[in-house]
Amino acid sequence: MSDALLHKRFPELTDSLPYVRLGTSPTPIRRLDVGTGAPLWCKDDGRYGDGGWGGNKVRKLEWLLPETHRRGARTIFTVGGTGTNWGLATALYGREQGIETVLALVDQPMDDHVRVQLRRLENSGATVHFTHTKRRTLLTAPWLYLRHMRGRKRPYYLPVGGSSPIGALGYVEGALELAEQIAAGAMPEPSHIVTAVGSGGTAAGLALGLRLAGLSTRVVGVVVNDALPLDAPHIVRLAGRAERLLRSRGARFEPTGLRPDDLTITTDWLGPGYGHPTPAAHEAQTLAAQDGLQLETVYTAKALAAALHLDTADFFGAGPVLFLNTYGPR
Ligand SMILES: *Cc1c(COP(=O)(O)O)cnc(C)c1O
Repeated sequence: MSDALLHKRFPELTDSLPYVRLGTSPTPIRRLDVGTGAPLWCKDDGRYGDGGWGGNKVRKLEWLLPETHRRGARTIFTVGGTGTNWGLATALYGREQGIETVLALVDQPMDDHVRVQLRRLENSGATVHFTHTKRRTLLTAPWLYLRHMRGRKRPYYLPVGGSSPIGALGYVEGALELAEQIAAGAMPEPSHIVTAVGSGGTAAGLALGLRLAGLSTRVVGVVVNDALPLDAPHIVRLAGRAERLLRSRGARFEPTGLRPDDLTITTDWLGPGYGHPTPAAHEAQTLAAQDGLQLETVYTAKALAAALHLDTADFFGAGPVLFLNTYGPR
């Protein structure tokens, strides 16, 4: 019997939408001491995941790995940057579930963080193809895909970051978990939840899940990737696809009517591009470290920098603000 909150809410999904728990829930929520504006809280999904790597990708895999089996596939084929947390989590948790991972990797700015990540990938059991550029990845992907057929079994292709409608369910579940924590008094209902946006699945899942949970918390997505279209209409479209998926698997609920205006998506903290650190990110990383929170400058430090500035301008009077930590090194 699954203990997913999504199954508790929609028992009619129990058989049609399989789930495997890969971490210990709920993840801790605490008040941060950083910042001078609205009260800032952190939900630490960096702690999520019991299999050698943590963070937001683990929640996506809780739905994606069982779906792989459901489709009769034995291999996942997916893409990422050379520092891919997504590829690493897929390899580690897939292996536990008897699923092989094949990665096509695009170059990203090389630094110590990326070098360490590549070493972890080498030890993860994944098959890695370095395709370097987005163009070469698109050109070689069909050939790589066919090359990894197992007999007549095709690989399950997943988009970058695992941000398919099924992957987004990880944060529908995450939002339901947050709602239970709020109901139990872990924190007051936040006015905003701030998360990094790399491929959009986390922000889309949160937006849908918060609606289903009846919370009016607004998602603030901090775009850290300039290689994908990640504006509010794109995020809401993904949330809409996840909503239709739930319905197509048997869930019965009123349409949420989620609209692009319901989210705030900002590119103000991106800097020169994906993987390029910014002064604001370095500053946020240092502040977080003083509070015992380990961030990196590709995603989470940019998101925290945005959260620290939410008390200014349009957001005057906001609060409490919840920062979602999505980074889970082990
Ligand atoms: C992938 C990732 C994100 C972004 O999540 P998306 O669902 O891809 O938008 C944020 N933080 C970390 C640490 C990640 O690895």
